[in-house]
Amino acid sequence: MGLNFIEEIVEEDNRTGKWSGRVQTRFPPEPNGYLHIGHAKSICLNAGLAKKYNGTFNVRFDDTNPAKEEQEYVDSILRDVRWLAGDVPEGRVFYASDYFDQMFEWAEALMKAGKAYVCDLTADQMREYRGTMKDPGKPSPGRDRSVDENLTLLRKMKAGEFPEGKYTVRAKIDMASGNFNLRDPVMYRIVKAEHHRTGNKWSIYPSYDWAHGLEDSLEKITHSICTLEFENHRPLYDWFLNELGIYHPQQIEFARLNLTYTVMSKRKLLELVSKKHVAGWDDPRMPTISALRRRGYPASAVRTFCEEIGVTRVDSVIDVTRLENAVRNELNRTAERRMAVLKPLKVVIENWPEGHVEQLEAVNNPEDPNAGKRTVPFGKVIYVERDDFMENPPKKFFRLSPGREVRLRWAYFVTCKEVKKDAAGNVTEVVCTYDPATRGGDAPDGRKVKATMHWVAAATAVEAEVRLVDRLFTVESPDGDDYLKNLNPKSLEVVTDAKLEPALANAPVGTVVQFERLGYFNVDADSKPGKLVFNRTVTLKDTWVKEQAKGE
Ligand code: ATP
Ligand code: MG
Repeated sequence: MGLNFIEEIVEEDNRTGKWSGRVQTRFPPEPNGYLHIGHAKSICLNAGLAKKYNGTFNVRFDDTNPAKEEQEYVDSILRDVRWLAGDVPEGRVFYASDYFDQMFEWAEALMKAGKAYVCDLTADQMREYRGTMKDPGKPSPGRDRSVDENLTLLRKMKAGEFPEGKYTVRAKIDMASGNFNLRDPVMYRIVKAEHHRTGNKWSIYPSYDWAHGLEDSLEKITHSICTLEFENHRPLYDWFLNELGIYHPQQIEFARLNLTYTVMSKRKLLELVSKKHVAGWDDPRMPTISALRRRGYPASAVRTFCEEIGVTRVDSVIDVTRLENAVRNELNRTAERRMAVLKPLKVVIENWPEGHVEQLEAVNNPEDPNAGKRTVPFGKVIYVERDDFMENPPKKFFRLSPGREVRLRWAYFVTCKEVKKDAAGNVTEVVCTYDPATRGGDAPDGRKVKATMHWVAAATAVEAEVRLVDRLFTVESPDGDDYLKNLNPKSLEVVTDAKLEPALANAPVGTVVQFERLGYFNVDADSKPGKLVFNRTVTLKDTWVKEQAKGE
């Protein structure tokens, strides 16, 4: 694969010696929610560059807003980054809050140089004074305060002597700038909230725009990679760094990841959780990294997806099928096959000796010769999928029906002889005969059948709950203020009496297998001894469009 535009920049910098060959990247999340697949793109990009160019990758928590941030989010973010990017040692984990003292010193320095001031305007007034695209803004009355008065007020703000909203600290740049970010942006607000790391030490907190470039500077970041919406903040970061005369990283913007059938705004994800539209941040239907992991997505498949979609400066929406395909392709190679029946129909083999059980050989993964074989017990009573039987089949239905012969995977050919029903006319049992000559699933006389079905022997079946996880939204572009109306009412179907082959009896949490003919499934953390719970990781094929059409 060719280089992406950021790799080209890095290689050019290495050629010219701009950073003396150093590559220092970072991922700077705000701990105000769980990470999602969009963040995965940023993590893979930054960690990937550091790895490729023998550089270093930092995780830095941008914990500048105590009102919305929590330790739970810090912990989940570290778990997710480590899962995706490999080990990130403790020594490479940083917190903006550790830099608050340094930032404060720099704010004082700007004030002493006449480049920052304490402002009395309320938020509403500030908006009013900011001006419009056509008209320049009006100067705040605080703009002309003396250096001494500014410094005194700043120190009192820090000491907690004023209520929230009373003052802000602003940079003195240009109220007529065509770039609104330069119209005297706010550097500090008074916030009387306990911070998850600094407790009650601070009564003022830095704005993102003030803090962000300083954090990168302190960590000697070389390539400060962010999404396109920060492009017009760059002149402001440059201004701060130049005025302070400190180390100056290079900011590079790229297009954020958007996915079909997915909302990614943290505000909306938080709403889905808090209003209980899903069971939690790691509900397998969520686009969060913790949900993808819980659902059985391999980290390597997520990395492959991020690699395949590439890095550009053009905003686009990626088809979620590409993510699902990356997962399918990987699991097809790595997941062992097992048999499970989700909606069981009882089949009795009439000519099978009572009480007799046979252990039949089954290949674990036809795509992986090293995966070996296992045995699957077969007996007089088995379960097949209810959908694999029809009493009065239409022309193109080739599976089990009266008089029809089919193959049971790894087992025998069976022929349907009789159908038993309850008083209401529902099929309760199907009676078949088997052909002993077809053991293993081949007829020595060369006769053909048109269907191969999966099955599970009743006597040794393991019971399980299976959660048929589907897309959370029904439309391609669910985003927008009324996104909740696009929720898929069928995003989760729970099957409580699935039957599994006994090889799955003690499968540990996290195990991913292919249930033959049904899809990839993994053992969910809700499993308890004797009661397995599975999630559907992904279906075998992309059937979404077809299924949707049927439903309409
Ligand atoms: P907000 O700032 O609204 O809380 P955010 O998604 O930007 O939400 P951050 O914690 O600031 O959250 O994100 C951390 C990093 O992840 C940032 O560098 C950001 O550019 C990057 N990022 C966030 N969303 C995406 C996305 N959809 N695609 C690629 N990168 C993203
Ligand atoms: Mg952000």
